[in-house]
Amino acid sequence: MQTILDEIAQQMAQTLDKGEVATYIPQLAQVDPNQFAISVALPSGEMFSAGCADKHFSIQSISKVFTLTVALGRLGESIWSRVGKEPSGDPFNSIVQLEHEQGKPCNPFINAGAIAIADLLLQGHQPKETLAEIIQFIRFLADDDSIAIDEKVARSEIETGARNASLAYFMASFGHFQNPVDAVLGTYFHHCSIAMNTQQLSRAGLFLANNGINPASGYPIVSAERAKRINSLMLLCGHYDGSGEFAFRVGLPGKSGVGGGILAIAPGKASIAVWSPGLDVIGNSKLGTQALELFAAKTGWSVFGE
Ligand code: GLU
Repeated sequence: MQTILDEIAQQMAQTLDKGEVATYIPQLAQVDPNQFAISVALPSGEMFSAGCADKHFSIQSISKVFTLTVALGRLGESIWSRVGKEPSGDPFNSIVQLEHEQGKPCNPFINAGAIAIADLLLQGHQPKETLAEIIQFIRFLADDDSIAIDEKVARSEIETGARNASLAYFMASFGHFQNPVDAVLGTYFHHCSIAMNTQQLSRAGLFLANNGINPASGYPIVSAERAKRINSLMLLCGHYDGSGEFAFRVGLPGKSGVGGGILAIAPGKASIAVWSPGLDVIGNSKLGTQALELFAAKTGWSVFGE
């Protein structure tokens, strides 16, 4: 495994086109694109890494996997009345589908869907309490109490969040929101601004590779059935309108973020986190996708066979 990761990191270092960092969130625009990290966490507790695997980055939309898991734990299947389970085929911040579907986002991973989940999580709580619950959950999964929100990124997102605010107000116009829109947006921006490194992230994703059980504690985080379903949503919706391309090239459930991270799950085998801040035109990590494509080919771990 270490040899595979070293080879991938070496190949990524030699790749000239590293994509473009996200500029619509000013704080992310400052990140040096010449960085790469990969970590693989195995259910046995072993961890393999290459590149700058202890460098923190903004997990952005990868946080939506954890908020979905918390929402399912708290509210069960009732959440599906607020968000769908279908791939969108539209960009992450698209507003068009919302009008057709009367303010019900087609899945929990596009921005509108994750904002709806944030509204559900806020019910009966202050934003601080909900954020504490999300952070506590991620810290528990990663077995690392140092994981925190990067306040600078959160502020940067709030200041430039006109599009997300539009999505939220548009959904609220259909009467779906239970909480003040500002509180929902604040919660959403803050959970997107959680900073982690690839080691922490790969560990946090392990329950999805291990039938819902956190292998370190043996504690069931979700049922095996729920883990399977979260993985299927990641496979079909985790890369927005690039989900088909990601499934085609990598063949693993994955969730990307505009900070350049991707969490990929090889069910029964491993949880893999990659990070490289340069993005492709759709907004998914360019080298991250390339690295995972190589990884899946070298290990033969695609869910569609070797
Ligand atoms: N916080 C980002 C936004 O709302 C998340 C997008 C992403 O990571 O894909 O635009």
